[in-house]
Amino acid sequence: MNTPRFMKRATSLLFLILFSTLQSQNSLPQDYFNNPLDVPIVLAGTFGELRSNHFHSGLDIKTQQREGLAVKASAAGYISRINIQHYGYGKALYIQHPNGYTTVYGHLQKLAPKIKEYLRKQQYAKESYEIELFPEAGDLAVEQGELIAYSGNTGGSGGPHLHFEIRDGSQRPMNAQMFGLDVPDSKKPMIQGVFAYPLGDDAHVNNSQERQKLNLIPLNDGTYTVNQVEACGEIGFGISTVDQQDGAYNHNGVFKIEANLNGDQVFEVNFEKFSFAETRHLNQLIDYEYYTNNKSRVQRLFKTAGNPLSIYGELISEGKLNVKDSLDYQYTIKVTDFKGNEKVVRIPIKGQISDRIQKKEKVETEYLATAQNGLSAKGEKIDIYIPGGSLYEDAYLDISFNGETVKVHKDEIPVHKNFTIGFDVINYSEEEKERLFIARLSDYGRPNYSTTYKKGNRFTTGTRTFGKYTLVKDTTAPRVVPGNFYDGQWISNNETLKVKISDDLSGIDAYRATVNGKFILMEYEYKNNTLTHYFSDDVITETENNLKVIVTDNVGNTNTYTAKFFRK
Ligand SMILES: [Zn+2]
Repeated sequence: MNTPRFMKRATSLLFLILFSTLQSQNSLPQDYFNNPLDVPIVLAGTFGELRSNHFHSGLDIKTQQREGLAVKASAAGYISRINIQHYGYGKALYIQHPNGYTTVYGHLQKLAPKIKEYLRKQQYAKESYEIELFPEAGDLAVEQGELIAYSGNTGGSGGPHLHFEIRDGSQRPMNAQMFGLDVPDSKKPMIQGVFAYPLGDDAHVNNSQERQKLNLIPLNDGTYTVNQVEACGEIGFGISTVDQQDGAYNHNGVFKIEANLNGDQVFEVNFEKFSFAETRHLNQLIDYEYYTNNKSRVQRLFKTAGNPLSIYGELISEGKLNVKDSLDYQYTIKVTDFKGNEKVVRIPIKGQISDRIQKKEKVETEYLATAQNGLSAKGEKIDIYIPGGSLYEDAYLDISFNGETVKVHKDEIPVHKNFTIGFDVINYSEEEKERLFIARLSDYGRPNYSTTYKKGNRFTTGTRTFGKYTLVKDTTAPRVVPGNFYDGQWISNNETLKVKISDDLSGIDAYRATVNGKFILMEYEYKNNTLTHYFSDDVITETENNLKVIVTDNVGNTNTYTAKFFRK
């Protein structure tokens, strides 16, 4: 192709930029993957959306507030992994495709017959509902559009939906919208808050060294501005923003945030792909302290030291601004959704040294934990060991020992790696020790079981959440009651056998059900405290059936429930 001589430099530059953008998008297959549902895609969650300690790794596709919608193979391939968990993705299927990508389908209600049969055999062999299987290429081949499951709400799901993922050859989740799946979206992102952060030691914003929430002023052209910010020194900004697509009011994640200073781009973050190894570093993107206190996630438009996240574009000075006295600046934030709808915030900055600064409250304690070396602390009965690499930044921790309770700061500082809390339990009898566990106390004082390792007179727990920890005794066995039958009943017409199980303190650890001494598979759904057996498993063949359900809590209290039922 001839390049026209009259083409202006600017035009060719634009062409180049357009071409390279199109090329990077087009290098991904655009019509290989189909919508796995028969209903149009309406999202309850976007890729990269900010969640608790992680970025959302897929699309949450709405299923019309119900379960049981047909889930179909997005493309041909074979079932390469079946993962059945109480929590997490619940019942999940993975399909390996010949082009190297993997698709993932989570929170399923039940699986299609041939996959269910394959799974059922293994669950009965292992005598466990929870199981992870890696079928071989020849075991469970699927065609594009083949029914593989029905949508559900299993695992850590807050309502019926399908969690759908596309992963690359290294099992990195990618934004499925980049593969041409159509999600209609004509709505602009919403800006919920904009913040300014003084970062340098002498830096200040609006006469303060503390984070400043800026007052958003909507303009007629649909953009926002704020009152002129007076600042000096090294500062940065943050934004709280969400996006909505057509057909739903869910507050989902945005696709891209860019910032420029006087017209030059200085920051970009985008949600095209990430790796699971980096996902917890989300806590370095957001203002963690603001999040724990206000339940709103502010994305920081600057990169803190040691932040390995791969979701940033090119950054100038890590996105930080060096504001000089007597100079004016224009800082502009642009938030974009996947369809290119955008929202802009313009922030005028006036460089001005202030002599009436509200100083940052600096609390120095005797417990300085460094990012590199961590910290060890010891009370009379309790010790704490925070290894190096647990914290992202050095911090003075508020630690206090009070008998058998320890306060390890507040959940305002993110912790990356487990730290250990050890308790001396020499004063307890062997019997008491059995029923004792380490709990994290909620803000309201409610004890939550923290996995407790017991070795002689020393109990330890590993945790990644700061807060109050104490010893709690649980002497009450779990509760087990029939769900859809009563003892001695004829239930020939029932399709399922349901039992309700719960535990008041340490929580359910294990359950096992037998009929006439033979293992029966029961599916545990923690959200409604129910164990369900499907008679279609065809393992209950007698008329008179003696059911036995043994449920154990996390400290070993056991309840053995027995009942009789009849079927013909
Ligand atoms: Zn999801």
